[in-house]
Amino acid sequence: MYEVPWAFTDEHLEWQRTVAAFVADVVADGAAQRSIERRFDPDLVRAAGRLGAFGLLAPEPHGAGADVRTLCLAAEEVATVDSSLAVTMHVQAISVALFAHLAKDQPALLDEVLPRAAAGEDFISFGLTEPSGGSDAGNISTSARRDGDDWVINGSKQFITNSGTEFSRHVILFAATGEKRDGRRAPISAFLVPLDAPGVVVGPEYAKLGWRSSDTHPLFFDDVRVPGTALLGTEGTGYREALAFLTWARIPIAAMSLGLARGCLSDTLRFVSERESFGRPLAGNQGVSFQVADIAAAVATCRVLTYDAAWKYDRGLPIEREAAVAKLVASELANKAAYTATQLQGGYGFIEETAATRHYQDARILTIGEGTSEVQRLLIARGLGLPL
Ligand SMILES: Cc1cc2nc3c(=O)[nH]c(=O)nc-3n(C[C@H](O)[C@H](O)[C@H](O)COP(=O)(O)OP(=O)(O)OC[C@H]3O[C@@H](n4cnc5c(N)ncnc54)[C@H](O)[C@@H]3O)c2cc1C
Repeated sequence: MYEVPWAFTDEHLEWQRTVAAFVADVVADGAAQRSIERRFDPDLVRAAGRLGAFGLLAPEPHGAGADVRTLCLAAEEVATVDSSLAVTMHVQAISVALFAHLAKDQPALLDEVLPRAAAGEDFISFGLTEPSGGSDAGNISTSARRDGDDWVINGSKQFITNSGTEFSRHVILFAATGEKRDGRRAPISAFLVPLDAPGVVVGPEYAKLGWRSSDTHPLFFDDVRVPGTALLGTEGTGYREALAFLTWARIPIAAMSLGLARGCLSDTLRFVSERESFGRPLAGNQGVSFQVADIAAAVATCRVLTYDAAWKYDRGLPIEREAAVAKLVASELANKAAYTATQLQGGYGFIEETAATRHYQDARILTIGEGTSEVQRLLIARGLGLPL
């Protein structure tokens, strides 16, 4: 482990040990089989709920009111063996926090939804991406129009995590409420839409390369009628408010990348120490051990960048650049680590039972979800004043 003692309090380190024990005792054993079978495991979700993983960022008394480092530590530890569970927790944690933020002036709605959501008994999914494209996220076709006191929603969303499980109850849906004017985009509002409302169709589960035991579906909305109270915050500002609030949301993806790279390191260390070739352990070859050293250096880089960004956020410092750099570098390094880990395991690195293979599959989404590497570069370049 590459220590970053400046980043943590004793409480953080205690939480990390708790999550590490949970991963060893509850998560590790079935991770390979769940992934091979593409099986979302409700019992594992209930166990993570008892750990308190889903309401970490929800305000007290319903959640832990914890900081971003706490969420990152959970994401890191879980992703050392099971990125699918890590993303299931991540999406629920950010959706619960976002809901609590957007609905802060709607106490009745908060009281109704937050307790079960923070406990992980009810999932809130995050419905932004549309079939027309996720990088240009503000270009939204899904619409909501007023009809009396109600709103009527039409459109569709794509690749929505946690939207089709037995826990899935709501989606925070971003929809245009108004027309494009003077070349400017339509204002976008946020709604809390029950997934069992008439007109909502949860499409078939995607067959994914990685994150295979997480849950991802398209959602379709056909004249879905919701009451006026479903509007979160002020009409026309939901998307902007969500973006402003979620500046930190990329940092836990950097933490998941870090966890995955750590998983690659421990699995590779084991393999190259045990495996013999030409009459000696693989690790006896400089060409092999140097590659393991590169993974260790990647882990160190990811850890420093992740917790630098999280520490700054928790101190109230600006983190737009830090979050983009951490997400970009950590997700790209995790992919390199997974490639090296599978290469060093030879044929075993191509067999689904092995941890290295699972990490290789899970790594691919890390440079795509929560803003692609290209989008992170765009943000970093804009921060440098480049005309993009
Ligand atoms: C398993 C999974 C789970 C997901 N979960 C959720 C979820 O819960 N909620 C949600 O809302 N979304 C979710 N997403 C969507 C995810 O955030 C998007 O897939 C991602 O933002 C990329 O959008 P896209 O797939 O439409 O690709 P596009 O935006 O179409 O991009 C295609 C390619 O073009 C590149 N590109 C685009 N614009 C530019 C540019 N200006 N300059 C250079 N390159 C560019 C991109 O980097 C990418 O390489 C999930 C996706 C997956 C696969």
